[in-house]
This record gives sequence, C-alpha cells and structure tokens, in this order.
Amino acid sequence: MKLTNFFLPTKKEVPSEAKIVSHRLMLRAGLIRMETSGIYSWLPLGYKVLEKIRHIIEFQHLQKNINQMLMPTIQSSDIWIQSRRYDSYGEEMLRITDRNQKKLLYGPTNEEMITVLGKDYIQSYKELPLYLYHIQNKFRDEIRPRFGVMRAREFLMKDAYSFDIDKKSAEKTYELFFNLYLNIFNKMGLNIIPVRALSGEIGGDLSHEFHCLCETGESEIVVDTNILEPQKSESFSTFSNYYSSTIEYFEKSGIENSKLKVKKSIELGHIFLFGDKYSSSFDFKINSPSGLIFPYMGSYGIGLSRIPAACIEINHDEKGIIWPQQISPFDLIIINLRVKSELCVNFCNEMYDVCKNQNIDILFDDRDERIGVKFSEADLIGIPFQLLIGKRFEEDSVIELKNRKTGDVLEITEKEFLENYLKKIRQ
Ligand code: ATP
Ligand code: MG
Repeated sequence: MKLTNFFLPTKKEVPSEAKIVSHRLMLRAGLIRMETSGIYSWLPLGYKVLEKIRHIIEFQHLQKNINQMLMPTIQSSDIWIQSRRYDSYGEEMLRITDRNQKKLLYGPTNEEMITVLGKDYIQSYKELPLYLYHIQNKFRDEIRPRFGVMRAREFLMKDAYSFDIDKKSAEKTYELFFNLYLNIFNKMGLNIIPVRALSGEIGGDLSHEFHCLCETGESEIVVDTNILEPQKSESFSTFSNYYSSTIEYFEKSGIENSKLKVKKSIELGHIFLFGDKYSSSFDFKINSPSGLIFPYMGSYGIGLSRIPAACIEINHDEKGIIWPQQISPFDLIIINLRVKSELCVNFCNEMYDVCKNQNIDILFDDRDERIGVKFSEADLIGIPFQLLIGKRFEEDSVIELKNRKTGDVLEITEKEFLENYLKKIRQ
C-alpha cells in the first residue's frame, strides 16, 4: 500500500478523557474513531491489526478442526427467558422491540443460541464431541465504557462452544481449549498468564481467564512469580513430564512455590466448563449407551478488539506504538526521504514491487512531506522495520534499515537487504 492512497488520519491532539496511553495512541495513530460512547469504528490501520489477530485465531482453530460459523448479533428474548438469564443479565443487555412488538436483544454472548442450535441438530453421542465457534460483535451496555476499545460497549469477540457426552470427555475438551489459548496468545507475541476464575453469570464450576500483566490494567490477579518468565509454546509439552496436564502445571506450581504476588492485569480471554446448565434448561437430550443424557457444554471467549489496546499498553515508547511483528499492521515501511530525486523514487518503487512479490505486507511512504513528519509518523504507527532511502543511497548506494524498537540503524546494500534481511521481516 502506498501512503498516498492509504487513509491514515493521524492526530496531534486527543481528547482529555483518553486517559491511558493505548487509548491516546490509538486515536493519534488513526487506528480507531469513537462514534458514540463505547462504540468505535476501526479505521484502515486499526482494522489491519484486527485482521492479523483474526487470522491467527482462525488458523489455530482450524489446526484443531474446530468449526467456524457465524450467528446473528440480534437474538430473540425468548431463549433468554427460558435460560432465566433475561432478567438476571440486568442493564448490561441492550433490549430492542421490533415493529411487531416482539422483544429482541443485541447478544452479549451466545450460550442460549448455540444450545438451541445443538438441540435442533444433535441426536446421538456418536456426533460428539462437537466444537463450534464464531467471531462476532457483542454488545454490553457497560456502566462505565472507558479506555477506548479496552472496555467498549460494542466489541469483537471470538466465542467457541463445545458439546461432550460426559464430564470426563468435557474436561479433555476444556484442556484442548486451554492449550489452544496459550498457543494463540503466544503466536501474537503476548506473554499470557492463565488464572483460575469464577464463572459469574455464565455458570458452571471450572473456569480460567487469560491475562497479560499491565500496570494500567483493570484486573488484579494473584500470580506465582516463578511463571512470569516468558513462555514459549514448545515448552508446554514438557510440562506433562511432571504434571498430568498444562492446567495442573500452572495451578500446582503456583501453590508449591508460594511466591505469590498481586499484580495488575488485563483479561484477554475466558473459558468455562458449565456442564449441563444450558442443555438441561432447554431440555436438550441425546442418545447415549446409558440412555438419554444432557450433553456437557463449555464456552471459550477471546476479546479480539481488546488485544490491540492491551498490546500497545505493553509495547510503546514516548514516540508511539511498537508492534510485535506478529500482529503489526504492516511488516515494513519504506520511507522515501528524497521525493525529488529520480534515483530514489525509482529505487523505492523497485523495492516496493520486490517486497510485494515476496508477500511482505508493505507500506510505502511516497508522500511529498517534510522528513521530520515522515520520521515521527513512522515511529507513531509503530511498524517494526523502516527502510530509509535518501541521501546515503544517492551518494553511496547505501540503504538504512531501522529497528523501531531498539532504534538501531543498519547501513546495508540492496543485495544484503534482499538476501539477508527480507526473510527476517516477513512474518
Ligand atoms: P471483564 O471482566 O473485562 O468485564 P468479562 O469477564 O465480562 O470481561 P467475558 O464474558 O469473559 O468478559 O468475555 C470474553 C472476553 O471478551 C473477555 O475476556 C474480554 O477480553 C472481552 N471483553 C469483555 N467485555 C469487554 C468489553 N466491554 N470491551 C472489550 N472487550 C471485552
Ligand atoms: Mg471474563
């Protein structure tokens, strides 16, 4: 994408109600725009980040053969009356009446709908276990929407649902999602801590949240300082040498070492095993070797639209955002510092085409702008690598590759760039 074609409305000033750094930077770098309280548009740069996150989630779910689908955002109130959550959900639920006076609502979550769907299609235990998920907007009329997309009213969530024949099989499913979630957050370049949690409104007795540590976070978790080391997905398998499951590793090691600390954090995911709570409410029975039974169910959520904000909260400096490579909106930005030089223009265009052909997601600052503006905007939007083409290229055919995080600048030739550095830049 050429910056002359890209809609990147950066801002110098942001409203004073934007209190935390991620909210300010998301507004300043033109990622999001508030339409009304707690309701946001995702502008092209922000939307690209969201799509990178979506892609990681979809790819990882596909690896585990989890079916993707899409349920509607508007639900009938009838199913919520049947599960007895219509009243208990309270003021957070946005209730709507249609022209025929039928009561509808904008879904805050989908346990009811998926249970009714399951009841309609699943008859036998032979069809289980079954996993379904979708990525869909939710609406919760939060009492205090704040921190931008971190606590919004409309937000994008991935929610998966599982059906199993019994408790034992459901616990295996739960473990599968637990490990899947560690993997997903790891692929996003986030250090995540799984935390034992209360089930709250959803119900059930087994539940974990997935948190990243952050001083400005709204949550507080008790964490064993021994597991604060960066976690690599490869090492998860080694846990099973000592513990029967990854879940047990996180829970038992915390208790044994008792180096517990209270830390501020941000909740990015939450999984629940609620058993037959909904299948029994909806009288959803299936055939099994021991007669008719209520399937065991679980639900598994990730707050997609909260992730970019959490990521910025953790990865930034005084100049702006520093994206982890994995979810950066672009892999590389080429900056032409000499737009009047035919040599530089031609070379930039050539590099731009080469990168595109190599599937590098590239942004090309081809604007006729002051160099200072180009530098500060590139730092603000936080693409991990900047390729600078200017005076050094004109004089000595040297191109400069800048690392946004460290500020280090490598002076290299075109050949070195193409042979040694391109592959490191590609995600
Ligand atoms: P919180 O405790 O932050 O209010 P929750 O426990 O109500 O969240 P869940 O029902 O567990 O949320 O939803 C799954 C995920 O959706 C959460 O882990 C979080 O990442 C995200 N999420 C929940 N509420 C919001 C919101 N208001 N704005 C943005 N993301 C949200
Ligand atoms: Mg939660």
